[in-house]
Amino acid sequence: MATNNEHKLREIRQILGDKYEVKGLKEIGCNEDIPETSDTLEGNALQKAQYVYDHYGLDCFADDTGLEVEALDGAPGIYTARFGQMNGYGDSHDSDANIACLLDKLKDAASRKARFRTAIVLIQGGEKHLFEGIVEGEILKERTGTDGFGYDPIFAPTEAGMSFAEMGPAEKNRISHRGRATQKLVEYLQKGSKREVKR
Ligand code: IMP
Repeated sequence: MATNNEHKLREIRQILGDKYEVKGLKEIGCNEDIPETSDTLEGNALQKAQYVYDHYGLDCFADDTGLEVEALDGAPGIYTARFGQMNGYGDSHDSDANIACLLDKLKDAASRKARFRTAIVLIQGGEKHLFEGIVEGEILKERTGTDGFGYDPIFAPTEAGMSFAEMGPAEKNRISHRGRATQKLVEYLQKGSKREVKR
């Protein structure tokens, strides 16, 4: 998996079990800052997976996630991690700054509808596969709950009636954008391994 995020690696390994050996970037000796210069989530995920496939000759997948807010015409999207910084609210990847920025932007908004969207691109034997996970919800008017990370305290999935930060990790994974995209990837990989067994 083209990531250095240990949390993501642990999660996917738990789901896949020992049928697959999933390695992160560090474990293949990749210390590069892989470029993410696309203007879409899919493009960024592909860029990361393609980099590893081209430079290391390994099957690879990568993900990219964005928060898409209706009143902001789908922003911040690919800029979700550095939304606050781009608007003068602190550093990149600073969750407090990101949340403060978004709450201010939506102060007078008629709609608070939003969705998280994850794109995972897998390159397997040179073939590319896309898996998408979406969770619809709304941006709350204030922070609620203490679990999770990023925008969790102000994002409430419609089907849950509470914020991501009020849910346990298992409950969040079941309905979250990344959880859903990951489930599709895992289903695909597991079907593939069944096909191999039959042959
Ligand atoms: P990434 O592509 O997984 O790095 O996600 C980009 C940014 O989206 C992160 O820096 C977070 O700010 C935000 N984000 C992604 N997933 C979640 C989530 O499950 N909850 C809250 N924020 C998230």
